[in-house]
Amino acid sequence: AKLRAGESICYYENEHDEYMMKNLRIANELTAALRREEIKVHLQPKVDMRTGEVLSFEALARWNSPDLGNITPDVFISAAEKNGKIRILEQSVLKQVLVWLQKRQEQKQVLRQVAINISADHFFHHSFVPNLVDMTLEYGIDPAFIQLEITERIGFVDIEAARKIFKQLVKYGFTSSVDDFGTGYSSLSYLQKLPVSEVKIDRSFISKMHEADTLAIVRTITQLAENLGLTAVAEGVETEEQKQQLLNLGCHVGQGYYFYRPMPLEDANIL
Ligand code: C2E
Ligand code: CA
Ligand code: CA
Ligand code: CA
Repeated sequence: AKLRAGESICYYENEHDEYMMKNLRIANELTAALRREEIKVHLQPKVDMRTGEVLSFEALARWNSPDLGNITPDVFISAAEKNGKIRILEQSVLKQVLVWLQKRQEQKQVLRQVAINISADHFFHHSFVPNLVDMTLEYGIDPAFIQLEITERIGFVDIEAARKIFKQLVKYGFTSSVDDFGTGYSSLSYLQKLPVSEVKIDRSFISKMHEADTLAIVRTITQLAENLGLTAVAEGVETEEQKQQLLNLGCHVGQGYYFYRPMPLEDANIL
């Protein structure tokens, strides 16, 4: 039987409701999951592509739920953002990273910087910097070993407010990175205004470098970073060819499956 207009709208609404319900369910389970320590940090190295040396790591949240199965970060992060749970999630990530660094420090293993993703809600929360400082000191870690990755979209909220927070981070010795660069409507002057030390070129550009205009964008971002004294990091490097192209453009730092996949803390321990 053919659907009438009303019925198809009804169907669409149900699907939307279902999506909302699923989001809500995930967000609700999240609190319990954090308590049960089901959300685990994995680390993915950032590599000097000239030598293969591991320079630093990025912390990425993983959730293998006994009830809901393996949920991808894109799903549970956005559910957490929509339901006010992202701050506690990111605090858990920070804590796991600090515990790991502390252990390495005690065992006199070499310490490398670890980058933590911070959402806009968390970044602009009044207790973000004080909490970060307290926790980092509590574990006896030099703030120089913690980097904050902030998506470039943060600047659209309030660039002046963002600048103030970045300046506080600098004051305490933390470093910052602008994540997913090029995906928003960021003006190039945006980078100049923020006291950050790194810019991450979004994976969507790296995967299309075989197109001349995309290659030109990657070249421009790399040159801009160099002119401003920032490190350009290429995300999602998957092939030898991409690595070579990036090196030719003067982009030396890369992250991606070609080098390492995100790995559990135990595996990162031997690097
Ligand atoms: P992102 O910050 O852009 O992180 C990079 C994503 O690319 C990660 O996906 C990583 O696993 C993936 N990736 C790395 N190398 C490659 C590659 O060579 N090829 C491909 N196809 N993918 C690669 P993941 O872990 O699924 O995370 C997705 C997004 O979820 C992250 O994107 C980040 O925005 C968010 N996320 C993860 N953990 C956190 C967190 O603790 N806080 C916040 N706010 N966001 C997080
Ligand atoms: Ca990131
Ligand atoms: Ca990124
Ligand atoms: Ca990205």
